[in-house]
Amino acid sequence: MVRGYDYLVIGAGILGLTTAYYIKKLNPSADVCIVDMLADAGQGNTARSVGGFRRGIFTSYVNRVLVETSIDYYMDVEKSGEYSFGMRFIGYLILLTESRLREIGSYVESFVKQGKVKLLGKEELEKRLGMKTGFSGDEEAEMLEMEDIKYGMFAPECGQMDVEKLIAYYKNLCIDSGIEIIFNKRVDRLVLSPKTPLGIPDEPRVWQSKKISGVETDGEVITAENLVVAAGVWTPELLDPLGVDCLVKPKKRQLAVVRTSTSELRDLLTRGGLNNENTLPMIFFPKGLYLVPRREESCFWIGLTDDIGRRFGIDMEPEERFYYDHAHPMLAKYFREFANARPENMWAGCYAMNMLDGNPVIFRFLNCTVVTGASGSGAMKADAIGRIAASTTLGKRTAILYNMIPFDVSLLDIQNRRVDKEYLIL
Ligand SMILES: Cc1cc2nc3c(=O)[nH]c(=O)nc-3n(C[C@H](O)[C@H](O)[C@H](O)COP(=O)(O)OP(=O)(O)OC[C@H]3O[C@@H](n4cnc5c(N)ncnc54)[C@H](O)[C@@H]3O)c2cc1C
Repeated sequence: MVRGYDYLVIGAGILGLTTAYYIKKLNPSADVCIVDMLADAGQGNTARSVGGFRRGIFTSYVNRVLVETSIDYYMDVEKSGEYSFGMRFIGYLILLTESRLREIGSYVESFVKQGKVKLLGKEELEKRLGMKTGFSGDEEAEMLEMEDIKYGMFAPECGQMDVEKLIAYYKNLCIDSGIEIIFNKRVDRLVLSPKTPLGIPDEPRVWQSKKISGVETDGEVITAENLVVAAGVWTPELLDPLGVDCLVKPKKRQLAVVRTSTSELRDLLTRGGLNNENTLPMIFFPKGLYLVPRREESCFWIGLTDDIGRRFGIDMEPEERFYYDHAHPMLAKYFREFANARPENMWAGCYAMNMLDGNPVIFRFLNCTVVTGASGSGAMKADAIGRIAASTTLGKRTAILYNMIPFDVSLLDIQNRRVDKEYLIL
């Protein structure tokens, strides 16, 4: 038996770090520990993230609040000169076809009304970005079932930050506030125990009041009064054996890195004049394809978010054919500059997908909080999610998000969940 803690957080990803930090902030005398199976913080899926952030353009009100308060916090930390997350407001450009407009047209209208986005017509897209928007008569594009682009929805309050800096920031806050972090320790199971042990076989029996008394790792038990499961896509592995559902399934996501090895690609990287960073915005094409310009590294990241046909499950191995057979044919149609582009590197990770509504899932059972389901946007919402999970853990009904915004924590739990569906999962 290893020493016990007041609070034990499983997972040193961005959500485990922020949750642990805000637990300690709300309860400074508490003994808080984070345990992770990997060698450092954020090495699960956080480090595989693109680091994109978008203010205002979520269809779920709750997601908008989580992102806006978190981004405000990150920006104010940067403005204070205390720390830099490498935030670059390069903007998101989401390309809309007729059929996509039928699905989310009402949201697009409201984003325009709120001044969050501006619509660019196809002529403007062609002129400023040199991209192709119409495909009639192009047999190959027709075979790829590519629809014409009607508009580009440009959102300037969006961009990219360096996730490794985000991880380092919260890891350091945790360490500086006295939180212990144990790496290279895999939690094999949560230990379910009776609140009042009777010393009889098969405890806890159904009629006994229960608690999670700790976790088992490599045959030893770490005990804790309170637990937080922040294990990202691995969360169901810890909860399923107890019969607790967290609504989350892992879905593989992949990216390829293409260096600007030709003058055409170098020229494309700095095209558009849509931001002050002298670079293309992040561009989201139909069918889940997206392009991330990385001017500072002279390369592009190319991602493809596939849906039906991509099985659920944890799989971190990138597939070379996925780029060549699925992403590249479409990309080279929009931008001929990519016609001969070969990736020099690839990686894969998994989204912790909440397939019900695409918002995070933060709930408590027994003496254990579960925080997961960020559905591909956990880095940009991490500060708010950490505050909500910490308040949930401490039994508070209201979390105070950055800028003193109150948030009813029951909105995101499972029992009383009250959130709009998120239709813009990118
Ligand atoms: C390809 C890709 C692109 C993305 N792009 C963006 C983006 O642009 N913007 C954005 O905001 N978000 C993005 N995301 C999503 C973002 O990365 C996640 O929402 C976020 O990292 C979730 O954080 P987490 O702490 O829940 O998970 P993780 O970072 O995966 O942390 C979970 C931790 O738990 C540990 N763990 C799990 N099981 C155990 C166990 N049994 N014992 C001990 N430790 C355990 C793991 O080692 C891991 O460190 C992207 C994700 C992917 C995969």
